Amino acid sequence: MAAANAEIKRTIQRRGNLFVISAPSGAGKTTLCRKLLNKMSDIKMSVSYTTREPRRGEIHDEDYTFVTRETFKKMIDKGEFAEWAMVHGNLYGTSIKRVKELNSKGYDIILDIDIHGAIQLKKSYKGAVYIFILPPTMEALQKRLIHRKTDSEEIITKRLDNAKAEISEYKNYDYIIVNDRIDTAYKELESIVLSARLKTECADHEWIKKIIN
Ligand code: 5GP
Repeated sequence: MAAANAEIKRTIQRRGNLFVISAPSGAGKTTLCRKLLNKMSDIKMSVSYTTREPRRGEIHDEDYTFVTRETFKKMIDKGEFAEWAMVHGNLYGTSIKRVKELNSKGYDIILDIDIHGAIQLKKSYKGAVYIFILPPTMEALQKRLIHRKTDSEEIITKRLDNAKAEISEYKNYDYIIVNDRIDTAYKELESIVLSARLKTECADHEWIKKIIN
């Protein structure tokens, strides 16, 4: 019976969803997205291009595709990005080709992008689901940034200043998740993904007609 239900779900869903997830750095977005990728099938993350230096442990073409500013600017000129933005002094962009490839394979796609990228995308792409992840308090955010030991004090101060500006844009998003406890926040994220998958507009209407006939 379980197998039959899984088959029905696979067949009934046709159009892939695009989930745009933003958060100030340190809010736990990467952890939540990784958990989603590990736990749910048929969902992939589009790997962004960036001019930022790789952090320790980051893998090229897996965490980001790390490129020079020159390469990035050429890609902008050629119109290769669905959106791009300068974040904390570095350029980041979503490749149209990568999103299309994942979409053509029927995957749901996660875009982990900043607020400016999300606003750009909203103008050109109507069907996406916009999710904003909030820290419970600014103090908690500061603690997390210090704890992860990836940034200097100066960068942490910059990130905290940016966080306030980013949080002010929360109204552009369809859903807000407060990441106080990771398990609860994950459950909330998973429910958003599940409900988007069940939307009538994502269904294969021809397949439903076959049930009636
Ligand atoms: P980090 O350097 O900490 O990995 O990411 C810094 C910020 O850049 C995060 O807020 C992340 O969401 C954002 N970011 C990552 N990839 C992209 C992208 O392709 N486009 C935009 N606009 N922002 C991105």
